[in-house]
Amino acid sequence: MTNTLTVADLTLTFPDGADRITALNRVNLRVRGGEIAAITGPSGSGKSTLLAAVSTLLRPDSGRIELETDSGTADLSTLSRRDAATLRRDAIGIVFQQSNLIPALTALEQLEAMVHLGQTWFVSPARRREVRSRARDLLDAVGLTGHENKRPAQLSGGQRQRVNIARALMNDPSLLVIDEPTSALDQERGAAIIDLIVGIVREHHAATLLVTHDRAHLQHMDSVYRMVDGVLTPENAVVPA
Ligand code: ADP
Ligand code: MG
Repeated sequence: MTNTLTVADLTLTFPDGADRITALNRVNLRVRGGEIAAITGPSGSGKSTLLAAVSTLLRPDSGRIELETDSGTADLSTLSRRDAATLRRDAIGIVFQQSNLIPALTALEQLEAMVHLGQTWFVSPARRREVRSRARDLLDAVGLTGHENKRPAQLSGGQRQRVNIARALMNDPSLLVIDEPTSALDQERGAAIIDLIVGIVREHHAATLLVTHDRAHLQHMDSVYRMVDGVLTPENAVVPA
């Protein structure tokens, strides 16, 4: 397993009237498989923009976003739209702040849809069983056994966030990006979600970027960066005990 994300000299601007806002200003970072790089910083500093660029949803002005996996190294900043969509489906897990679950689907179906939506019209019964079994295993891993058949409205905020995380793992991602997963949760539930993420990242070897406001979570991270006005600075190297 050689998953590594390397961001080099990444700059991204947004139009702002006649001018432009620099949301990312020559950002550099590296995170290896099985490790979590935490990103903190004030609101509006560019954290979500960085995650969107790294997950190929926003195209940067310049710089590189290299993802090294067992199948080679790709520069995510220059992929075609089509290749980017394929890569997101196959190699990137995305967890946003608001759980963007589909109201009509059960927890189990949310996970299954991740796989089946990318398929052509025919999916063999054997493949369906395999996908269902993986979805059940992941829901179990995030502590949702017994809730598989509930729809989002029947789940608590913490449970919905767990479904989000399980769903992001369906394609066994090389790269995991997670934006403020605990912002809607109380301290205790937030801590449980962070523990869950740490365990999953270690087990699945995804290179992980995690935006968090809560400094209590930083002790569990492998590295910590701070974003201010689009400039990313390493905050400290967390020395393993
Ligand atoms: P954070 O996640 O740290 O709160 P964001 O990455 O959301 O910050 O935003 C960084 C800056 O980029 C802010 O000034 C924000 O207003 C601006 N911005 C974000 N998205 C857009 C967009 N789609 N169009 C224009 N400006 C944007
Ligand atoms: Mg944000």
